[in-house]
Amino acid sequence: METVLEAATKEANGTVAEKKPTVVFVLGGPGSGKGTQCANIVQHFGYTHLSAGDLLRAEIKSGSENGTMIQNMIKEGKIVPSEVTIKLLQRAMAESGNDKFLIDGFPRNEENRAAFEDVTKIEPAFVLFFDCSEEEMERRLLSRNQGREDDNIETIRKRFKVFLESSLPVIEHYNSREKVRKIDAASPVEEVFESVKVVFTSKDEKAV
Ligand code: UDP
Ligand code: MG
Repeated sequence: METVLEAATKEANGTVAEKKPTVVFVLGGPGSGKGTQCANIVQHFGYTHLSAGDLLRAEIKSGSENGTMIQNMIKEGKIVPSEVTIKLLQRAMAESGNDKFLIDGFPRNEENRAAFEDVTKIEPAFVLFFDCSEEEMERRLLSRNQGREDDNIETIRKRFKVFLESSLPVIEHYNSREKVRKIDAASPVEEVFESVKVVFTSKDEKAV
């Protein structure tokens, strides 16, 4: 016999598969404020926030067979294979019951992007890009004390390099399709959120 919960989960999964959800990719260098601003967007606009980095860290903690591989890649600032990250994102989407998602910190390279579109058949409604100087991002990362193994100067430098070489091309890709909404992310949190609000309430995005 199917339990009520199983039926509800099936229905939730079905909804995700049949009716394409709205996805906004939230991109920007390490320390640009993606997670902080996503929390604000959730409060005001009813999205579900999915941080790819947080999902990967939860996967390490859960003791999954991929845990050690993921941990080593994060320590080196490298990009975890698309297959692993996409599975975690798909599962989180299915379990959420929502149909509007902020996907934070993914896709990080062109391969991530193509694989996500291939597997899910979802294209983002738009891409929110937090633009911030390396100097400011470095200052934030070194002072945030979240106990993250990758917030040390050596790994931070590697993450900046990966961002410039691998992640900026993703932003370029969407920019050429007029999907990028660029935000000046160097100001204090409240000021940045004022610019973010404009994007989410503008006429163009209302259909979203
Ligand atoms: N990561 C990854 N794929 C993703 C998201 C994150 O491989 O889609 C890894 C990568 O090693 C990255 C780390 O997780 O440096 C931390 O990512 P997160 O988005 O949490 O932090 P950010 O660098 O944006 O501050
Ligand atoms: Mg983050």
